[in-house]
Amino acid sequence: DAHVSKSSPSWTTRTEAEDGGTRVINLDHGDPTMFERFWQKMGDKCTLVISGWQSISYFSDVGNLCWFLEPELGREITRLHQLVGNAVTEDRHIVVGTGSTQLLQAALYALSPPDASEPMSVVSSVPYYSSYQPLTNYLKSGLYKWAGDACSFNRDEPYIELVTSPNNPDGFMRQPVVNRSGGTVVHDLAYYWPMYTAITSPADNDLMLFTVSKCTGHAGTRIGWALVKDKEVAKKMTEFIVLNTIGVSKDSQLRAAKIIGVVSDGCQNLDNPDEHLFQYGRRLMTERWKRLRDAVNQSGLFSLPDFPSNFCNYVSEVTEIQPAFAWLKCEGDIEDCESLLRGHKILTRNGKQFGASTKYVRVSMLDRDETFDLFIERLSSIRL
Ligand code: PMP
Repeated sequence: DAHVSKSSPSWTTRTEAEDGGTRVINLDHGDPTMFERFWQKMGDKCTLVISGWQSISYFSDVGNLCWFLEPELGREITRLHQLVGNAVTEDRHIVVGTGSTQLLQAALYALSPPDASEPMSVVSSVPYYSSYQPLTNYLKSGLYKWAGDACSFNRDEPYIELVTSPNNPDGFMRQPVVNRSGGTVVHDLAYYWPMYTAITSPADNDLMLFTVSKCTGHAGTRIGWALVKDKEVAKKMTEFIVLNTIGVSKDSQLRAAKIIGVVSDGCQNLDNPDEHLFQYGRRLMTERWKRLRDAVNQSGLFSLPDFPSNFCNYVSEVTEIQPAFAWLKCEGDIEDCESLLRGHKILTRNGKQFGASTKYVRVSMLDRDETFDLFIERLSSIRL
């Protein structure tokens, strides 16, 4: 995500800034530029030419519930899930969105009763993805409102629980925690791909969100999709997107379809492992997590979560969790990890934005090699 944290204004300029000869390393946002090199090596495989007369109409498939979904994108999404085995696509409606950010809001709209006397409570367990609270509250909706940590939600009223698995920021696999009647769950599965975690079974939830941002790295294409079991919910989500943006860019959908197709082809082409995005991503994440853990152990000032290993059905071996973000904790007396790192010109996101303590920060693991190298070098040299 690229939401600007209040403590780091104008991040675009600060990313590039040279400050007193020391470059500012911006790992506050989750921009997946790590995949750029893979796609450079793929050359023209994903190049798409769209002529002036193409993609003009608002409509893509008037026979489909989600009438602005490009059929080719729907087919490629289904093919990829079947290949990876990370989500059930049978008996599901696909709703396409401008990133999963739009779909999350569509889900809140669809799951809240239109005529309730009070807005529906939206909860997620701490530490939760930092955008959930602002996304829920920014329009001061009469339909729903943010109600904080799911673990302490004890009101006797309907609710929506947002479950992120693997979780952003800490990488753990998650299940719903509120155990009350009258609740519905949105499963945000943005990171349920083999480079980040073991694929243990196809997710089979009623409402699941995915995004090309974290799957292929094409965050700028702004394409996400929801797999929705209930027809009425899918209809209402579609209605939200129609009211919000009258559909989703066809140009982006066609590009996403092409890219997802190339990812699937690469996974199936056993003769050329260099074209296998998930293997490439896994290797890179393994190496980065090892280097990060070494640097953290060496410094003695920080700690990282320990993850269980699991059998991954996709790669047919036991694999580790290697999250897209590092949930770094300052040990000892240091109370504000973000300030400490900022003092060394490393920008990270403060734990309090995830509902957690300021002893924690979230660090992006998905930046370009040069940035990651510099980060490790600088982290290793921090002394109190
Ligand atoms: N959900 C989670 C858990 C995320 O981390 C992100 C991106 N940081 C999103 C949703 C939004 O992704 P996008 O809008 O780019 O699809």
